[in-house]
Amino acid sequence: MTAYQLLHDPLLDSVLLASDEIEDICQDLGGRITRDYTGHDLVLVTVLRGGLVFLADLCRRIDLPVTLDFMAISSYSSGAAVRITKDLDDAITRRDVLVVEDIVDTGLTLNYLLGVLKSRNPASLGVCALLDRDARRLADIPIAYRGLKMPDRFVVGYGLDLGGRYRNLPYIATVRDEVMG
Ligand code: 5GP
Repeated sequence: MTAYQLLHDPLLDSVLLASDEIEDICQDLGGRITRDYTGHDLVLVTVLRGGLVFLADLCRRIDLPVTLDFMAISSYSSGAAVRITKDLDDAITRRDVLVVEDIVDTGLTLNYLLGVLKSRNPASLGVCALLDRDARRLADIPIAYRGLKMPDRFVVGYGLDLGGRYRNLPYIATVRDEVMG
């Protein structure tokens, strides 16, 4: 299926970020991260599965010898608590950690994750998020590197899913309000 056909999926509304705009964001953020972390021992930590596509593009725009590590978490339906289902493979003590996230919504997931990572005594701990939707924010998350501050719409594509699908869309699209109820 081509991207053109996917965009004409009846569940999707419009394009929030086209692939060339995402490319520009990755270039910009990657350049800033390169400047800020030169001379540091940087590890990029991503939350599976949504952050995977952003990480893949972003890390290739960072001109430093970084390492990559992954976590997976599951949220309880209340959204109030999360549990680690896959932990990092490597220790982060005294290393500079940058968490690469697809989207920060309530901030509860990241709040929990940052607490867990901080307890392991990294040299520094930062956040890079492609999308920042602050309309429903419950936890105060310092986002050092932000791609786009976005309106209160549910989005899919570029790693973000709806029922497991749409992660492979090369752009980010809003889902029709009727679909989300
Ligand atoms: P938070 O804990 O900040 O409320 O939620 C963060 C996670 O919820 C994201 O990493 C993502 O997996 C999921 N999420 C939040 N908003 C959206 C959205 O608009 N679309 C999709 N597909 N997932 C979202």
